[in-house]
Amino acid sequence: MNETKVQFWGVRGSIPAPGPLTAGVGGNTSCVELRVGEQIIVLDAGTGIRGLGLSLEREFAGRALELTLLISHTHWDHIQGFPFFKPVYNPENRVHIRGYEGARSPFSAVMLAQMESPYFPVEMKQLPANIDLLELQEFDFAVESCAVKARLLNHPGVCAGYRIETPGGAVVYLPDNEPQVRMREIQKAAGLEVSEDTMVRAQKCDAALIDLMRGARVVIGDSHYTPEEYPKHVGWGHSDAETVTRLAMEAGVEELYLFHHHPEHDDQQVTAKTMHCQRVAEGSGLRVAAAVEGLSVVF
Ligand SMILES: [Zn+2]
Ligand SMILES: [Zn+2]
Repeated sequence: MNETKVQFWGVRGSIPAPGPLTAGVGGNTSCVELRVGEQIIVLDAGTGIRGLGLSLEREFAGRALELTLLISHTHWDHIQGFPFFKPVYNPENRVHIRGYEGARSPFSAVMLAQMESPYFPVEMKQLPANIDLLELQEFDFAVESCAVKARLLNHPGVCAGYRIETPGGAVVYLPDNEPQVRMREIQKAAGLEVSEDTMVRAQKCDAALIDLMRGARVVIGDSHYTPEEYPKHVGWGHSDAETVTRLAMEAGVEELYLFHHHPEHDDQQVTAKTMHCQRVAEGSGLRVAAAVEGLSVVF
């Protein structure tokens, strides 16, 4: 009854990457479904949400459906699938959409804008479902019976990470995030001036991230780059897979799912990246796996 299920519908970062080379891992962008008993929480509305919508339609055939969609931020790869999410076309359904103010615009304005003409033929207000679109003001709140803690991550504009408490343990969603200590270390090694103050701030920031992950049952973490690629992309707002693995080890996480795979990483590269992180975590108690479309985790 109080079982928790995490299901991956889109695991890719930046832009969909379909095709034979990515068919194993999947090419859809960020969307994760979380079921806590009967409750449905959806994390992000990348193109993976289309498949989730079809699946919900089959499951709920004829019955009304209620769910909460938590948006981490409004970059395309986290909202672009929303207009193709079939449950919003059923007048019986209730969909609560939550997210934070973006860098320059209110949350609701950005969500409405992507459905305006000439981008899309149906406007948000024309959608038949009961939709309430709210900008979050608090960082500690609840979605029905689940306590949620949100924290802003290190990513261009605004991006929130969410820790959701479930009876089986916490699920932490950190889709787009660049850990700061590693970032500053690389800048220093490249000869850039990094002050003591900056380093202290970076340590505080990573400590807050570790706190958010502390003891979690499942962490879904930005692993956009390999450790070799990362130094060429410092400041782009994403983590390499090894850094997020080390932070999860420090936080005593049970299971880490490498997420937001680079669109140019084929199945083989994702496997190699995952095996590298599994070696890094060996003996620590942390299990590491790749987030793969269609994969579900039940506890
Ligand atoms: Zn992203
Ligand atoms: Zn982003």
